[in-house]
Amino acid sequence: MADHNFDVVILGGGSGGYAAALRSAQLGKSVALIEKDKLGGTCLHRGCIPTKALLHSAEIADSVKDAGHYGVNASFGSIDMLGVNKYRDGIVDRLFKGLTGLVGSKDITVVAGEGRLVGPKTVQVNGENYTGANVILASGSYSRSLPGLEIGGRVITSEQALQLEFVPNKVIVLGGGVIGVEFASIWRSFGAEVTIVEGLPSLVPNEDPAVSKALERAFRKRGIDFKTGVRFSGVEQHENGVVVSLESGDKLEAELMLVAVGRGPNTAGLGYDEQGIAMDRGFVLTNDRLETNIPGVYAAGDIVPGLQLAHRGFQQGIFIAEEIAGLKPAVIDESGIPKVTYCEPEIASVGLTTAQATEKFGADNISTYEYNLGGNGKSQILGTAGFIKLIRQNSGPVIGVHMIGSRVGEQIGEAQLIVNWEAYPEDVASLIHAHPTMNEAIGEAHLALAGKPLHAHA
Ligand SMILES: Cc1cc2nc3c(=O)[nH]c(=O)nc-3n(C[C@H](O)[C@H](O)[C@H](O)COP(=O)(O)OP(=O)(O)OC[C@H]3O[C@@H](n4cnc5c(N)ncnc54)[C@H](O)[C@@H]3O)c2cc1C
Repeated sequence: MADHNFDVVILGGGSGGYAAALRSAQLGKSVALIEKDKLGGTCLHRGCIPTKALLHSAEIADSVKDAGHYGVNASFGSIDMLGVNKYRDGIVDRLFKGLTGLVGSKDITVVAGEGRLVGPKTVQVNGENYTGANVILASGSYSRSLPGLEIGGRVITSEQALQLEFVPNKVIVLGGGVIGVEFASIWRSFGAEVTIVEGLPSLVPNEDPAVSKALERAFRKRGIDFKTGVRFSGVEQHENGVVVSLESGDKLEAELMLVAVGRGPNTAGLGYDEQGIAMDRGFVLTNDRLETNIPGVYAAGDIVPGLQLAHRGFQQGIFIAEEIAGLKPAVIDESGIPKVTYCEPEIASVGLTTAQATEKFGADNISTYEYNLGGNGKSQILGTAGFIKLIRQNSGPVIGVHMIGSRVGEQIGEAQLIVNWEAYPEDVASLIHAHPTMNEAIGEAHLALAGKPLHAHA
C-alpha cells in the first residue's frame, strides 16, 4: 500500500475544503484535496448556485407577468423547465470549469475517490494512505428527513427538486426555513400552488420576528399558503400525488412534497468516531480555532455546529490554512456572519436580532429603528415593499441590521461592514449613499437612528 505525506490533507472539496486547499497552497504548503464527487460540493452543484439561478428565472417570470404595470406589452406564456435547467446547468458548468482550472493551476494534489480516516491524521482513498502533518475534515452535509419519513417517489429533497423537469401543479413544502421558502418562492413564480408547513410559530424562524412577519405578509399577497405552528404527522403517496397529514388533523393534497427540514452532518462511516474525534449528534466539535480534540486535526463547514452557509465554510477554510501556517488569524465571530435568503422578497441580515440584543444588553440599553422602503425612491421604482431595521447599543455601535425587500441581498455588504467594524449610526450617517439606489435606504436608516432623519419621520 502506497503512503503519501503532505503538510495538509483535506477530506472534502466543497466550500470549506477547497478554500482551505487554495489558501494552504498560497502559503507554500503541500496539499492533498480528497473529493469523491465534484470539486465545489453542495454549494456549486446542489445548493447556492443552482437555486439562485432558478430564483433568477423566477424573477424574470414575475417581471413578465407584471410587465403591463410598467407599460410594457409582454405576455407570459409558460415555463420551459428544460430551458430553465439548461440555463442553470450552463452557469454551474462554467463555474465548475473555473474552479477546477483554478485548483489545477496551484500546487494541490486532487485525489478522486471516497476517503476514510484510518488514523488520526491518515485518510485512506482507493487503498492508498494520505497522511498529513495536519488534517482538515470538510465532508459537508446532506438533506435531513424526519424520523419515519422516507424520501422517495413524490417525497423529495432539494436535490431531486433541482432535477425536476416539470413545474408541479401543487406542492407542499415541509419546513419554512431558508431552503423551504426559496423553493416555495421559485415554484409560486413558476405558477404552482404552494403550501408551506412549518412546526415553529413563524416562517424563517431564525430571523428577527419583524422580518418573519413581513415575509408572511408578502407571501400571503403572492398567494403562497403556509401553516405555521403545526406539526407534520405523516404522508401517503398514491399514483398522482401525496396526502399529507398534520397533527392538527388537517389533510393536504399535492403533486409533490419537498422535505426541507434542515441539513445533517455527513460524518457517519468516515472513521471520525473510531479515531477518537469528539462529536455531538454527528457534528464534529472544535474549539474556536476550529481544531478538534486531536491536535492537528481541524474541521470546516457544515460538519461544524453553527450556521450552514457557504461563505462561513470559505472563511473557516481560510482560517484553518492560516492557523496551520502560524499566522494566528482572528477567531471568526459567528454573529458577524451575513445571511441572505433569496426568496421574493429577499431577506438579508447580520448581527443580533432584537431578542438576542435584549438578552445580551438589556432592553433599556438598545434602540431600534425601522426604515420603511416606502420612502426609498428606487424601491418604489422597482415596486417593492419592505424595510431596513437597525438595532444599536445606546451610545454604542450598530449591532444588528435586518432587511426585507426585493434585491436587499445586494445590500448585505455594507450592512456587514457596519456591524463587523462596529460602526456607530453617527459614523454611517455622515457617509454618502448614491441617489436613487436601494442602498440609500441604509444611509437613511442610519440618519434617522443618529437623530437626523431626511426622508423619514423620526
Ligand atoms: C438547496 C441549498 C441551497 C443553498 N443555498 C445557499 C446559499 O444561497 N448561500 C449559502 O451560503 N449557502 C447555501 N447553502 C449551503 C451551502 O451549500 C453549504 O453551507 C456549503 O456547501 C457547505 O460547504 P462544506 O464544504 O461544508 O460542504 P459541502 O459543500 O457539502 O462539500 C463537502 C464535499 O465533501 C465531499 N465528501 C464527502 N464525504 C467524502 C468522502 N468520504 N470522501 C471524499 N469526499 C467526500 C462531498 O462530495 C462534497 O463535495 C445551500 C444548501 C442547499 C442544500
